[in-house]
Amino acid sequence: MTTTVQCPTCGAPVEWKTENTYRPFCSERCKLIDLGAWAAEEHAIPGNDLEDEMFSGDLPTRPH
Ligand SMILES: [Zn+2]
Repeated sequence: MTTTVQCPTCGAPVEWKTENTYRPFCSERCKLIDLGAWAAEEHAIPGNDLEDEMFSGDLPTRPH
């Protein structure tokens, strides 16, 4: 039985197996792109307004 997932970066089907070092990504390239995207989106995360609203009173500045 083989589970197939979608590569989070490019959406390509990826077989979820132990031999696939980069799962859930289809390749090392997509894995690195996703890691880079996380860093790039750190300052502009869509749909994060609720969290900002909840903590705005307690945390005027967000430590990094
Ligand atoms: Zn991919």
